[in-house]
Amino acid sequence: MIKFLDLQQINARFDASIRSAMDKVVQSGWYILAAECEAFEREFAAFCDAGHCIAVANGLDALTLALRALDIGPGDEVLVPSNTFIATWLAVSHVGAVPVPVEPIEATFNIDPARIRAAVTSRTRAIIPVHLYGQPADLDPIHEIARELGLRVIEDAAQAHGARYRGERIGKHGDVACWSFYPGKNLGALGDGGAITTNDATIAARLYKLHNYGSTQKYHHDELGVNSRLDEIQAAILRLKLPVLDDDNRNRARIANAYTEGLRGLDLHLPAVPDFAEPVWHLYVVRHRQRDLLAQRLAETGVATVIHYPVSPHLQPAYAGLGIPRGSLPIAERLQTEVLSLPIGPTQSDRETEEVIQIVRECVSAL
Ligand SMILES: *Cc1c(COP(=O)(O)O)cnc(C)c1O
Repeated sequence: MIKFLDLQQINARFDASIRSAMDKVVQSGWYILAAECEAFEREFAAFCDAGHCIAVANGLDALTLALRALDIGPGDEVLVPSNTFIATWLAVSHVGAVPVPVEPIEATFNIDPARIRAAVTSRTRAIIPVHLYGQPADLDPIHEIARELGLRVIEDAAQAHGARYRGERIGKHGDVACWSFYPGKNLGALGDGGAITTNDATIAARLYKLHNYGSTQKYHHDELGVNSRLDEIQAAILRLKLPVLDDDNRNRARIANAYTEGLRGLDLHLPAVPDFAEPVWHLYVVRHRQRDLLAQRLAETGVATVIHYPVSPHLQPAYAGLGIPRGSLPIAERLQTEVLSLPIGPTQSDRETEEVIQIVRECVSAL
């Protein structure tokens, strides 16, 4: 069986160095908000070419705190992609604002800038483009609309570590960019982790406060903050993995290119890459009308696949209260029935990639 993502193999490469980094933290006597976290914030900001990085507990917190730092809350609306992981929507709901879905461009899976204006109302405060599957959304037209209408741009970069938009790293284009270091992401911890990057010193200062009990001076609290911090052990592990992220992303790109070459000419939609985008292939997502049958055949023949995502946020029971009826977001609803993610990861061998291509070709042709 070819695994979808071999996390054991990915992290085994760091086995000895992870152990010694953990030992160092244990011996230091400092486990929260100390040297490793500070160093990681500096190094990740530099990697993104952003002025500031605030490390937090997870990606959902990064998004939620970013919204709070921009004073978005009850009575406000925030534009979100109709097809995304539910965290993008949940962050908006958690600050008391309302997520308003915008449909994607089918070929790239990313928010369609041409559909944004129609979703804007007098309550709209921000847009959250998601760089879905590791492919940058088209940021220039989004920023143009945002500037014109006075909206904030919060990037959900949880799948896009290292990706570039028009040659520039993701992480500094919007007011803020939000990251997750969940183990399965391109830069993954051995537990939960997240961060926010920004070039705005005022927003950064607010975030530093918010993520640590609303405090900059111990036991003095300026506002109702939360506890959302990256612990020293996870920061130390992320510092070991950051220097190989570009290499890992190159391996992912090699696999993606092989898929795109090898799967051409089949009755199968392959992901399109626009000129402005340098994706990092967090996922390689194909589309097929008989997706469930294809996934079943692949599993029987030895290829593990995953569906990202089988149910759009507006059709989740959790969002029944928004009252967005089935049929109102036809692109997201079609994608949820057609998308299928093929195995991809930095340690996947060329032999495994070739095997996936052969098996997918056979299974698609036999449908
Ligand atoms: C993973 C992910 C998140 C949430 O990150 P967590 O660290 O799991 O909270 C948010 N948005 C997207 C698009 C993600 O893929």
